[in-house]
Amino acid sequence: MHSVLAGLMIASITGSLFGQNDQRMYPVKRVETPETWRRDGWNAIDMAKKTKIRTKKAKNVILFLGDGMGISTLTAARIFEGQMRGESGEENRLSFEEFPFSALSKTYQVNQQTADSAPTMSAVITGVKTDEGIISVDQNVRFGDHTTVAGNEAKTMLEYAEDAGKWTGVISTARLTHATPAACYAHTANRDWESDADIFKKKEAHEAGFPDIARQLIEFKYGDGLEVAMGGGRSKFTPKEMADPEYPKETGERLDKRDLSQEWLRKYKDSAYVWNREQFENIDVTKTRHLLGLFEPSHMKYEFDRLKNPSEEPSLAEMATKAVDLLSRNKRGYFLMVEGGRIDHAHHDGNAFRALREVVSLSDAVRAVMKKVDLEETLIIVTADHSHTLVIQGYPARGNNILGLARGVGDGGELDKEDSTDRNKKPYTTLSYANGPGARTGDRPVLTNPQVILPDYKQESNMPLKSETHGGEDVAIYAIGPNAHLIRGSMEQNWIFYVMADAMGLARK
Ligand SMILES: [Zn+2]
Repeated sequence: MHSVLAGLMIASITGSLFGQNDQRMYPVKRVETPETWRRDGWNAIDMAKKTKIRTKKAKNVILFLGDGMGISTLTAARIFEGQMRGESGEENRLSFEEFPFSALSKTYQVNQQTADSAPTMSAVITGVKTDEGIISVDQNVRFGDHTTVAGNEAKTMLEYAEDAGKWTGVISTARLTHATPAACYAHTANRDWESDADIFKKKEAHEAGFPDIARQLIEFKYGDGLEVAMGGGRSKFTPKEMADPEYPKETGERLDKRDLSQEWLRKYKDSAYVWNREQFENIDVTKTRHLLGLFEPSHMKYEFDRLKNPSEEPSLAEMATKAVDLLSRNKRGYFLMVEGGRIDHAHHDGNAFRALREVVSLSDAVRAVMKKVDLEETLIIVTADHSHTLVIQGYPARGNNILGLARGVGDGGELDKEDSTDRNKKPYTTLSYANGPGARTGDRPVLTNPQVILPDYKQESNMPLKSETHGGEDVAIYAIGPNAHLIRGSMEQNWIFYVMADAMGLARK
């Protein structure tokens, strides 16, 4: 072990570990010596000692949520991003990893050890943990029983903020009616009741006229309503009779004939509705007060796929910065939630490449927003709702392609000539899932690097499941700005709400 480490150190200085012809190996661009490790360590401590504690009230709070962005996902994504730049990757830091304060978040909910996005986001945005599948209502609500909702709503941060005269916004790359964004503005007994067509399947609720999630967005009754709502999910807002503007062969899905995008325009003065990038870019944020953007009938595209035709949809960073520009006009401040909603979807699909690319996109959005805000008056929190079962395994050498086959450090301290293998002498990838669609029955195939680094490759998994599951371990919380120092230690997930509420002076009885 000792000689391996020594070998690694020498190799990282000389770069000899990184054979020119091996595409999986990336050079460490910076110089690393025993002295740089010591120097960087002391620098980090000296910086930490100077960390500013900001105790003044926050005018604004921005919450970034990486759906399914567990800790192994963060590690893999930071390596992935570094390697995208031609670096080794391990030493890279995502934008929010530079934040001065962080904590671990316990994501169990009232009746779940490992939870889904509905109760976890409800916990973050209302301060109350609740049951599986229900949204911004407390544990007295029975799943799927609309009659139990009234009186058991848990007030959300956006509702408190609107009551205080602040402006509010919700942004997601998923459908705006999907669990995480929905928890910001809706209260419901079933996360799947996104449109009235979804509720139709539950006869009693439909006959009682229980409002679907899309309707609750438009009928939001606190303050003067949401100022910004952007994401996917157009079909949930438009009627079955109406052709989709982008895909004319498709239609909306509402049964009540309502076109909620038009209702948004009628409801609010100085409002706008956009569904493509050109319209989005033409929005003048100094004149628009209520902006609705619905860029896909369902979820927005994965960033990797969006970039094949970037003129169709804005990026998460573009949506987030436009929202900040608009919301900053309010002298009383704002609350904005920005979700990287599709990290989770790629993981469920067993596709690590897209999941990691989505994390990089979220990191880019945080960096872009940081340039626009004053940290003396703006609290920024970055966290996840829950983890996934992604694992980083084997003993890959420094700079080994995070998507590639694991190849370790050999006995002589040099890069191994062969990939690491299982007991049947077959190579395996560094990334895999504990369960999911990538599971095989029977013998493992003989994998090759060109195959496993493809964007569509589904990593192998142990248990064969159609959809890979969430993971139950803690997730991380990162914070900067007023009250950021209260993000510390091991926290219950719902405590995040109280850090944000206290920062803005809201919600305390
Ligand atoms: Zn999920």
